[in-house]
Amino acid sequence: MDTGWHSKVHYFLRLFSKVVGDTDLLMAYFSGEMRGIYFIMGVAGSGKTTIGAALAQQLGLSFIDADDEHPAENIEKMKAGIPLTDEDRVPWLQKVRSRAISASSQNGVVIACSALKQVYRNLLEENLINVHWIFLDGDWSVLHERLNSRKNHYMPASLLHSQLATLERPEKAIRINAKHSVAETVEMIIRSLQLKKERIGIVGLGVMGKALARNLGNKGWQLSLYNREVKGIEELVAQQSVNDYPELSTALPFNDIHAFVKSLGSSPYIFMMLPAGEATDHFLNLLIPLLSPGAIIIDGANAFYADTEKHQQQILGHHIHLLGCGVSGGEQGALEGPALMVSGDKKAYDKVAPLLLSMAAVNGSGNSCCAYIGKGGSGHYVKMVHNAIEYGEMQLLAEVYGIMRNGLQMEEEAIAAIFDEWQQTELHSYLLGITQQIVNTKYNHKPILSLINDKASYKGTGAWAAQEAAFLGEPAGMFATALNARYISANTRLRNWVQQYLNSHDQVVTQKNATIDIEQIKLVYTLVRIWNHHQGFALITKAAEQYGWDISLVAIADVWRAGCIIRSSLMDKLAEGFAHTNMVSAMPYCKEILASNYADLVQLVASATLSEIPIPIISEAYQSILQYKQKKLSTTLIQAQRDFFGAHGFQWEDDIEGAIQHIDWV
Ligand code: NDP
Repeated sequence: MDTGWHSKVHYFLRLFSKVVGDTDLLMAYFSGEMRGIYFIMGVAGSGKTTIGAALAQQLGLSFIDADDEHPAENIEKMKAGIPLTDEDRVPWLQKVRSRAISASSQNGVVIACSALKQVYRNLLEENLINVHWIFLDGDWSVLHERLNSRKNHYMPASLLHSQLATLERPEKAIRINAKHSVAETVEMIIRSLQLKKERIGIVGLGVMGKALARNLGNKGWQLSLYNREVKGIEELVAQQSVNDYPELSTALPFNDIHAFVKSLGSSPYIFMMLPAGEATDHFLNLLIPLLSPGAIIIDGANAFYADTEKHQQQILGHHIHLLGCGVSGGEQGALEGPALMVSGDKKAYDKVAPLLLSMAAVNGSGNSCCAYIGKGGSGHYVKMVHNAIEYGEMQLLAEVYGIMRNGLQMEEEAIAAIFDEWQQTELHSYLLGITQQIVNTKYNHKPILSLINDKASYKGTGAWAAQEAAFLGEPAGMFATALNARYISANTRLRNWVQQYLNSHDQVVTQKNATIDIEQIKLVYTLVRIWNHHQGFALITKAAEQYGWDISLVAIADVWRAGCIIRSSLMDKLAEGFAHTNMVSAMPYCKEILASNYADLVQLVASATLSEIPIPIISEAYQSILQYKQKKLSTTLIQAQRDFFGAHGFQWEDDIEGAIQHIDWV
């Protein structure tokens, strides 16, 4: 190299940079040796320094601890427990940036830095290329415990609160929960960095597919988008998405499946968001022959778990993997972070986990709401049960609304006010929140609910869950009841007939002995929700035994704590409770509610029945609890009948051996 020429250019660059004020950056650009800069950020206690140093070692890069770059006055302030102002941070950030640039021009660098606000990050990375952000997230308890266990750390744990309050979570960063070990975290970071270099395919740009693509686009993933072309109906859908959304402006749009697959390189990763059943079958038949070994398809549809397993079998010989991925959260969840329940080959999951973890919602403990559920179709199975619990919750809220509106003749505003009050308590849930808003909504100056046709719709998951419960012999009658309530609502012909012959009348609570009040409804609502969740988790437990799935209820409840439709304060409690028992109704919190609110359940069922207010799911909960409560059930007669006509046998009650008996009944 002509060093004379080189030093002259350096001289001019220095002169020029005096004007623009960033010598090192210009030098680095000029030398052409700009290497990666990996900022690893988080609040105190997140472990950024230890993990940053380990990552640097693993990647063969330099390491800088940004805390060491603080001016003396900042350190004194922090020691005294005084939070730093933005002004205090400017000279520090400039120094960190300058060190980053010079280190990156030599070797590439990992920098551990709190960088809690977006403006700090903007300042650090402005005009730099090849900058990667890694964010160590976590809940207060983990971080606090870690800080408390440290010796000679100059950041008192009390400042953690102010750091967490200041923290603006970075959208595009690789986000890792701080609870993992150093080795695990470093491995996850490296995997994420590798995957981020790949182009990810999204198929099916309907409501959900488009929202998921935008979610990933916002997080800096490189995407190829594919939608089928139906002449005159669906044309250039992918191109339209790229045009419509800035976060998709760098995505490649396709309506040709061959070109789409080609854009994904040698081991394509494809997220499919199509209607389950025929459409998915048809598309897989087109796609599979085009894929090379190592490809991973993630099926995000609401597929029946057995179909997922059928598809997994179908591709066995192709060395391609198909992961079933239950997605919950609707369009908003898909955009902002859904809950994901994934199953299939574990190694394939590990490969795409960084993508799914970054797509998912984050719960109150800093965990991504994405979990590997187990083998086969277990992810879609768990999503099916999620939807069944959702059916139960929705029906219960509809009944509670019905009792207040019809039985107690309350106006919509008054009902919404009650729901709002409940929402401030441990009854808080996403579904209660939207119900409150719906009840409060006026359309053409009238409560919107007075204008909507009462025929309730359904797709498939509710029926599958009821069918599965029956098939596995798990008494989860609330799912069937919630489903039947929808079927009955849609059976106009029979409804008209019955109304005519049985004299339809108002459902007001005026009958003798019928008393219902708001407090009683609240207690019953609390209890029935617990029973509904009990049945859902019991069905998962039964399926896991039956199908040989190694399923963690803690992980499932944790995933359902955010992003999904059944997220609630109750789910937070269940996630804790499953650490001690697999049975919802055996958790101390739930047991107490079952015991203390049972009398109200009896009273409410009685009053509503006398007043002819339909409460199918509340009654179902009551009837099933009541049966469990009996020392001896009348099912003795069923045993005798079965033996009478079919010689099926029975057992004597006092026979501890349980030998099968048969008598000659005639
Ligand atoms: P949409 O109807 O909005 O979108 C369906 C997508 O699939 C469209 O892009 C459509 O293309 C494409 N498609 C339909 N048939 C075919 C076919 N035969 N071949 C190729 N592509 C086809 O549905 P959603 O986005 O709401 O749902 C997608 C999946 O996500 C479903 O399985 C659904 O159950 C599941 N899901 C939906 C949720 C929701 O809240 N909506 C929540 C969780 C899961 P085109 O535009 O050309 O018709």
